[in-house]
Amino acid sequence: QNYHAVLMENRRLFNEVQDLKGNIRVFCRIRPFIPGQAGRETIVEHIGDDGELTVANPSKPGKEGHRMFKFTKVFGPDASQVDVYSDIQAFIRSVLDGYNVCIFAYGQTGSGKTYTMTGPNLATEATWGVNYRALNDLFQISETRSSTLKYEILVQMVEIYNEQIRDLLSSGGTQKKLGISTASQSSGLAVPDASMHPVRSTSDVMDLMDIGFKNRAVSATSMNERSSRSHSILTIHVRGNDLKTGSALHGNLHLVDLAGSERVDRSEVVGDRLREAQHINKSLSALGDVIFALAQKGAHIPYRNSKLTQVLQSSLGGQAKTLMFVQLNPDNVSYSESLSTLKFAERVSGVELGAARSSK
Ligand code: ADP
Repeated sequence: QNYHAVLMENRRLFNEVQDLKGNIRVFCRIRPFIPGQAGRETIVEHIGDDGELTVANPSKPGKEGHRMFKFTKVFGPDASQVDVYSDIQAFIRSVLDGYNVCIFAYGQTGSGKTYTMTGPNLATEATWGVNYRALNDLFQISETRSSTLKYEILVQMVEIYNEQIRDLLSSGGTQKKLGISTASQSSGLAVPDASMHPVRSTSDVMDLMDIGFKNRAVSATSMNERSSRSHSILTIHVRGNDLKTGSALHGNLHLVDLAGSERVDRSEVVGDRLREAQHINKSLSALGDVIFALAQKGAHIPYRNSKLTQVLQSSLGGQAKTLMFVQLNPDNVSYSESLSTLKFAERVSGVELGAARSSK
């Protein structure tokens, strides 16, 4: 094997990673207006090639109703899955160097979170979302390094619904509630009892995802409803062994499809719906609070306020890297949700999450 080529590739990746250090990355993605959907006009617009967008208040025509926001990057409605992936590729690949990386999709139901993270149709490779592309990429790069490093890739998938954690990859179909172990958190195994599956190829991954989606459906009263009200976390553990020195590294990648962020009118819902809404609201604000506290370099980071932040603790802060896709639905009826999504994004962006390179 060409040792020099491997070395050069490692150096190139290391340089890319250097560029990515620092603040949490917030990438907005505006999904296309889909004919037949509710609402009419496209009121969210991506301007120029920079990370700027404007939102127009439908009831305030003219300049006065326009608000501008600026983020690391904005993907307009024409951006393809390939475009999106190519901008996060270096992030993903750094897991092979022992980093912990966390990628979230945040937004109201119907804004394209699942489209970005999973994709609409497994059968069409062009529409694959981040999770399939990430795994494929990790397989490929680990292969190119195989003369110097031996990698093992393992996958877990859990769901958090009403502050209860369930294993989505347990084969028996019984979904016991799982606990969190702080002892194992530092190695990225925050949910030690969730089943762990070694994967070697894209088809292994497809089979597992299939189980995951089926398990999600089994426990759902109505699949669409349930999936928009639970957080799903796909965790990819990467273990590498340096064949020359014998040293080991461990990185993990969390790919998180968050529950819909839409606010529910409390005067209108009762019972289960109200309980779900309260849990979602609590965990999404806990996530915002954790990222905000990290920015302030506070002595106390409130990880314990939700299951979501507890599970992800080892990948939020310290040397971990975080990226959030903020998904926007462009129509006029979504105006107030889009605005609150953007305000959340504004709060969590521009935040120092710790930059040092892992010494593992
Ligand atoms: P969410 O997960 O936020 O509830 P979905 O990912 O299910 O939203 O997206 C809602 C609908 O919009 C789906 O029919 C999806 O295929 C479509 N959609 C979302 N984003 C895009 C996009 N970038 N291009 C084309 N269709 C999209």
